[in-house]
Amino acid sequence: MTTTAHDITYRLEQKRRVQADFPGPKSLALTARRKAVVAAGVASSVPVFVADADGGIIHDVDGNSFIDLGSGIAVTSVGASDPAVVGAVKEAVEHFTHTCFMVTPYEGYVAVAEQLNRLTPGDHEKRTVLFNSGAEAVENAVKVARLATGRDAVVAFDHAYHGRPNLTMALTAKAMPYKTNFGPFAPEVYRMPMSYPYREENPEITGAEAAKRAITMIEKQIGGEQVAAIIIEPIQGEGGFIVPAEGFLPALAAWAKDKGIVFIADEVQSGFCRTGEWFAVDHEGVVPDIITMAKGIAGGMPLSAITGRADLLDAVHPGGLGGTYGGNPVACAAALASIGSMERYDLNGRARHIEQLALGRMRDLAAEQSVIGDVRGRGAMLAIELVQAGSKEPNPELTKAVAAHCLKEGVIILTCGTYGNVIRLLPPLVISDELLLDGLEVLAAAIKANA
Ligand SMILES: *Cc1c(COP(=O)(O)O)cnc(C)c1O
Repeated sequence: MTTTAHDITYRLEQKRRVQADFPGPKSLALTARRKAVVAAGVASSVPVFVADADGGIIHDVDGNSFIDLGSGIAVTSVGASDPAVVGAVKEAVEHFTHTCFMVTPYEGYVAVAEQLNRLTPGDHEKRTVLFNSGAEAVENAVKVARLATGRDAVVAFDHAYHGRPNLTMALTAKAMPYKTNFGPFAPEVYRMPMSYPYREENPEITGAEAAKRAITMIEKQIGGEQVAAIIIEPIQGEGGFIVPAEGFLPALAAWAKDKGIVFIADEVQSGFCRTGEWFAVDHEGVVPDIITMAKGIAGGMPLSAITGRADLLDAVHPGGLGGTYGGNPVACAAALASIGSMERYDLNGRARHIEQLALGRMRDLAAEQSVIGDVRGRGAMLAIELVQAGSKEPNPELTKAVAAHCLKEGVIILTCGTYGNVIRLLPPLVISDELLLDGLEVLAAAIKANA
């Protein structure tokens, strides 16, 4: 590793500080205004309003500052105000904010497609389409797969999260809060068992065997020749940062290829250096037919993409794919700058460094705290699964208490998991070692204090 985050200079002081009257008066006033006008269905995990954010720190409107171990859900990997991204956005916005690529095209869109075709796995001929959100990318990947194969069925997995609009809601596994009372759901979606090493009934089951279990179910319940696409998060995000057993993804991908099924890797959360590789599938050399991307792609500007085999994407008739805002020029400029920063700062190396710093400490903590059932993850996508001491019974109450405790101490920690019992760490990849280690100490103390 030649370049580290130590070469990054931050605009804001990188230090946590929380006053006694937290949340402060300005945040409380804004919360009251919000309650009167913003729908209750949109929930926020942190009760303060942001004034500024940079590197690994978020400042609120009352002068508190928090260590950011969430990156706005894996989005601001290059930081919330990376100078390269800010500069590129300013430069772009002074020229034009929008023309619609489907009306009057511009170079930025093409340049982003070139980068994505270069960075995604495989050296086959590729094509890219840009959209606004992760869910929109997923919807379009499925559209392409269905058209290209002439088949209907789509296979998704237990614990999957693919978004909130109708088709992606059907693909998502968890009922509350994502699906309950929001049906009816899109048809022809089938759910298969995931490889979840910590919770396997048979802890000896290999990745290949877990893949075989899913494949057998697909063959019995749907028939391989009926399946348009298999969609999977190579490391599951909202479902609990579940890393499938080694061999699971390659076996599934190989079987899909054999059956003419489009293998879609949903890398919306795990992509763009998050796991120490450009994409999480890179860890096992899996080459997806289509890959969906969003969160980390553009330093916080709304942009998403699908990149895939040229024969699949070019099968769609002109006009069959698109959207008014898809590939907005300002967002494209931000993506190009973000990718530039990822390369310049070697954020893949930085994510691996974060894993080295954090995972050992998390394992040490697990050895002394029986409420920690599992520690897992790759790069800067790390998790602690909390259980009732001496069992594997999920402990969502403790998980909530730990997150609340961390927040009072000035550390923003996100939770996730089908059972609501997983602490997930998604720090900006540019966070300093000092700040990360401070945040981890707070987390360790919070688990000890609440266990
Ligand atoms: C967040 C997420 C989505 C949905 O992205 P949005 O931008 O919120 O629509 C889809 N898939 C995965 C794996 C995600 O983590």
